[in-house]
Order: sequence, then C-alpha cells, then structure tokens
Amino acid sequence: MAKIIGIDLGTTNCAVAIVQSGEPSIIENAEGARTTPSVVAMSKTGERLVGLLAKRQGVTNPKNTVYQIKRFIGHNFDEEAVQKDKAAVPFEMRKSANGGIEVQMGDKWYRPEEISAMILQKLKQDAEAKLGETITEAVITVPAYFNDTQRQATRDAGKIAGLDVKRIINEPTAAALAYGFNKKKNEKVVVFDFGGGTFDISVLEVASAEDGENSIEVRSTDGDAHLGGKDLDQNIMHWIADEFKKESGIDVRNDPLGRQRLDEAAEKAKIELSSSLETEINIPFITSDASGPRNLLLKLTRAKLEDIAREYIDRAMQISKRAMEASPFKVGDINEVILVGGQTRMPAIQKAVEEFFGKKPHMGVNPDEVVAIGA
Ligand code: ADP
Ligand code: MG
Repeated sequence: MAKIIGIDLGTTNCAVAIVQSGEPSIIENAEGARTTPSVVAMSKTGERLVGLLAKRQGVTNPKNTVYQIKRFIGHNFDEEAVQKDKAAVPFEMRKSANGGIEVQMGDKWYRPEEISAMILQKLKQDAEAKLGETITEAVITVPAYFNDTQRQATRDAGKIAGLDVKRIINEPTAAALAYGFNKKKNEKVVVFDFGGGTFDISVLEVASAEDGENSIEVRSTDGDAHLGGKDLDQNIMHWIADEFKKESGIDVRNDPLGRQRLDEAAEKAKIELSSSLETEINIPFITSDASGPRNLLLKLTRAKLEDIAREYIDRAMQISKRAMEASPFKVGDINEVILVGGQTRMPAIQKAVEEFFGKKPHMGVNPDEVVAIGA
C-alpha cells in the first residue's frame, strides 16, 4: 500500500510524519531537522531556496524572501487584514486579475498556493529521499478557523506540488488525535497553540457519531493572528540592540547584516532559555568604529526574558479565558490540555497554562511535532 504523509503546513515551520509499523513518527528533512521553516526565496544568484537556507538569507535579501504565506492563502487582496499584513512584510504584493493575491520573487509573480506548493514540494521530496519511495498522497492540517476558500487553496497547493490531498484536518483536532483523545466519549480537550506567528486556542469535545465512530468537534476557538514567538524575538532583538547601544553608542539595527545576526541571536537565546536559566549572546564583529571591530557580548537571564515576554503571555491567557467563556464548559470541566507550537516549550508559558486550567498540560509529544503526528 502506498504511504500517505501527514503534513503540518505551519505559518512559521512545517513538519512531516508517516506511520511506520503502526506508529506515527516525524520524518527528518534533507538538512536533518525535524521541522522546516515555511520560507521560500530566490537567492541573489537566482537559485530557489526553501526552508532553513531561505530563512537564513532573509534579512539580506528581503524583497525576494517570502515568509508567512499562510496569512495570505485563500484571501482577497482588498481585505483589511491583508492590507495590514502586507504593510508588515518586505516582499512585494499585488492584486491578481480575479482580486486575489500575488507575491513577487525575483522577476516573477506567484499566487500564495504556488508558494505553499514550493514548500510542500520540498517536504515531499525530502520525505521521498528518506523513505526511498515515491509519495503521492498526503493529509494536510489547517487552523480550525480556516474557511472553505482557505481550505480549498491549501488543497490546490498540494495538487500543484504533486500531492493528492486525501484529507484536510483541523490542527487542534490533529493534536488531540496524536494523544488518542478521540477514544473517550464526552472528553473535553483544550488545545493551546502558541506558534511562531499566531496564537490559537480551541476547546474540543469528543462526540460519538451514529456509525459508532467518535468525532472531535470544535466547541469554541479564539486566538490572535499577530501573537507568536516572533513577537518575543523582536522584543529580545530590541533589548539586545539597546544594551549594545548603551555601551558602544552604535545602533546595529540599522545595518541589514547586523540586523539579521541580531534576529538570529535573539531567537537562539530565547530557545536556550527554555532549558537553562542564563545564556550568553555572543556576536563577534557585529560592527566596527574608529577603534576597530566591535564584538557584542551580553548575558540574558530567564528572569529577564520572562519580563520581556510577560505582556504576550498575559494576552494569551486573556484570550484563553475568552475562549472558555465562549464554550459550553467551565475550566473545571476540561479533562485534558494539550500544548502545541514551539513557543510552548517556554517554561513560563507552561506555568501560566497550568495555573489557569488547574492541571498539568500534556506535552509528551513535542509541541512543534504533535500536529504532524496527528495528521
Ligand atoms: P508555527 O505553528 O507558527 O508554524 P511552530 O509551532 O514551529 O510555528 O513554533 C515556532 C516558534 O516556536 C518560533 O517562534 C520558535 O522560536 C519557537 N520555539 C521553538 N523552539 C523553542 C524553544 N525550545 N523555546 C522557546 N521557543 C521555541
Ligand atoms: Mg503550528
């Protein structure tokens, strides 16, 4: 029987999983990583890059590096949200003949589904190389709030990439499936998803259908499309730049290469502080002045990071409260809480969730892999 891959096509990162000997597991990409950045670029030498290589050259090649395309898929150019998001990205966008969106890379224009297809194609190819066989079928996940147009556009992206999309399923549903929470009738599950660009919370209920098969129903869903790990990174980046400016008088944010290294250092420090209490930010030769090359060397503690992140964590918890109020349940009725999204590896977020729901959240399946595993 042909194998079907499960794909979490994320705003920031993607993951791919497959069932082997009855168990789902993540397939590593060609770079040996378990997730792939959702970034596509036309390099300065005219080469198409997808994933980490595209992400790495983003700040120095901003016009030709397309990221967060998931924000635009299945939307019309004139929508207010699109116009707002357009203002925040460095690549060019225009209205297509039918009112849709096109983005520019190199001297060509692409529809969002074509960009997503380039990402899917890499995921497909890498999986094929790993498994040593051709893959033609996939299950792809989408946010619970995606409408029919967005779902159809995601299917189309699969088709362009040469994949027959067997199912489109909701990300929170996939997360619940990964834990097998579809087994118990009336089970009430909260999926708390803090990703790179968006925060989503869903309240699910397992219901038994007439054919005896349990189904997972979304009872309420809420979120903030502009609240994610990237916002934390930005604040950390500004903190680093401000500290460096205090001691050197130089604002390294103004130089694109300096900015790229700051962005990378900010995310790296944040990730390290999920497992240690203190980290060193070390960027050699970040800039130079009359006295010669200057190095950036700073300490960042977990406590300081939590200060920087506090406003975002509070916002996520307020939205969680709203989602619970919009659901038919009380906080005490919830049987399981699942953490999804790479940012939930941050201890302060885990603590806030545990305090609000009064129980330890599940994270036995890695939060940035759980959606693909469920798919
Ligand atoms: P998305 O669903 O938006 O595609 P992910 O679930 O992959 O995104 O989450 C990506 C975010 O998770 C990024 O902002 C990244 O910096 C963050 N992240 C990944 N690992 C960690 C970690 N160990 N600690 C804190 N944040 C992390
Ligand atoms: Mg995600």
